[in-house]
Amino acid sequence: MESNTVIGLEIHIQLLTDSKIFCNCSTDYIDREPNSHTCPVCLGLPGALPVLNKKVVELALKTALALNCHINRTNIFHRKHYFYPDLPKGYQISQHDQPLAVNGFLEIEMEEPLENKKIRINRIHMEEDAGKLIHLEKDGAAVCSLVDYNRSGIPLLEIVTEPDIQSPQEAIVFLQKLRNIVQYLGVCDGNLESGSMRCDANISIREENSGRLGTKTEIKNMNSFKAIKEALDYEVMRQRKLIEQGDKVSQETRRWDEESGETVFMRSKERAQDYRYFPEPDLLPLTIEQSWIDGIKKNIPELPAERKERFMVDYHLSGYDANRLVEVKPLGDYFEKAAKSYNNYKKLANWILGELLHYLGEENIGMEKSPVSPSALVGLLKLIDQDVISVKIAKNIFEQMFKTGQSAAVLVQNSGFTQISNEKEIDGIIRIVLRDNPETVQDFASGKEKAIHFLVGQVMRHTKGRAQPDMVLNLIKERITEI
Ligand code: ADP
Ligand code: ZN
Ligand code: MG
Repeated sequence: MESNTVIGLEIHIQLLTDSKIFCNCSTDYIDREPNSHTCPVCLGLPGALPVLNKKVVELALKTALALNCHINRTNIFHRKHYFYPDLPKGYQISQHDQPLAVNGFLEIEMEEPLENKKIRINRIHMEEDAGKLIHLEKDGAAVCSLVDYNRSGIPLLEIVTEPDIQSPQEAIVFLQKLRNIVQYLGVCDGNLESGSMRCDANISIREENSGRLGTKTEIKNMNSFKAIKEALDYEVMRQRKLIEQGDKVSQETRRWDEESGETVFMRSKERAQDYRYFPEPDLLPLTIEQSWIDGIKKNIPELPAERKERFMVDYHLSGYDANRLVEVKPLGDYFEKAAKSYNNYKKLANWILGELLHYLGEENIGMEKSPVSPSALVGLLKLIDQDVISVKIAKNIFEQMFKTGQSAAVLVQNSGFTQISNEKEIDGIIRIVLRDNPETVQDFASGKEKAIHFLVGQVMRHTKGRAQPDMVLNLIKERITEI
């Protein structure tokens, strides 16, 4: 029987505010002394009163508008109850039936089959993050658990999609696009590894032609795109197998176990009524003025999709190159800075997407901290264009620029790597190469045209790459017929 995969995602993003959502404690909590960024509000002490941080609403509105949502002008906060030691009040302040925004969408581009597809956003709401438990073990046995409340009260936005996603790959494309957007908006750093962006995936199998969705499981604990893809692939396989055997999928929450490469049972699914939602009596309903929404809408910066179009028009780049450049905001920024003083855009894009990304990746350095600045790269490319150095040598120089931070001009001068453009000098070397390789010359004479490339290679070796390959090729062609 034919069947389809159905996926809906719940994504939490930490908003980049300076202070927490309901108190003025700092949000700069990573690697800080445990419990040093806390106060009676985020520790949940009796009698402490929450006050809503306006900046949270602003960043939330920005995100909701960029995701084409309808904004609810009246917002209510709810208490969502559950017991866990990282939640000091015994409830989380969240939003339930009157969330910030509803009915949005994000359009993604799929390659196979090639199509644009709208993934609908069901809702977006604001809530607070919980603290963090640290479990101590000795010889593999649990000793005790410690709790750090520095993360308690960090503002979160929960983005919930409709079950419109039809494959694990589609889920990844959606998440990458969403991450690009929140980074462009400056509302979240989008880091899956550190947990500032987290994704829970709901997944089920629907039998073809069945009007109803299948029973879903929810998967948690994936902190990279790779883990999400693997966890979803695994879960599709597990559920299909159960259905083929005539068994039922049971509604439950499962956890991705990186080591075993499996999803494992965590708990059976709780339902909304288990949370005993009720309106938060310590916060007034929030009324959002239309003029505030309009102002934010006007100031939404250029997003990746528009930037890609602009790169294709202004810089004549292919859709593929443009996409890769705008994918990460600092990469696009780097390109634009360099393009101000260099107009071979295709070449520039190649060097950024090739050499620069290669070395940044190898050394695990972020684009913003690149030791080769946009203008330094332009300096190098101009030396190639002026025939001062060959492309091959430029690659070598680039590596040194990356490692030493020195300019191309200085490195070229010190290394004696300047290109030989003196025909006589090259001619001399060609004569030696032809003399030393009579068999290859013979091969060429008897019609094996490819033999000439070996001779070009020999000349390049003799000159340590300092000759211009085109010039060498032409000169060899001239000389070889004279023999
Ligand atoms: P719950 O009440 O269990 O939390 P919701 O209807 O609120 O379920 O949906 C939570 C998430 O699960 C949403 O992202 C939604 O798109 C997704 N979802 C709902 N039903 C299914 C299903 N049958 N298969 C896959 N995903 C689903
Ligand atoms: Zn606090
Ligand atoms: Mg729900």
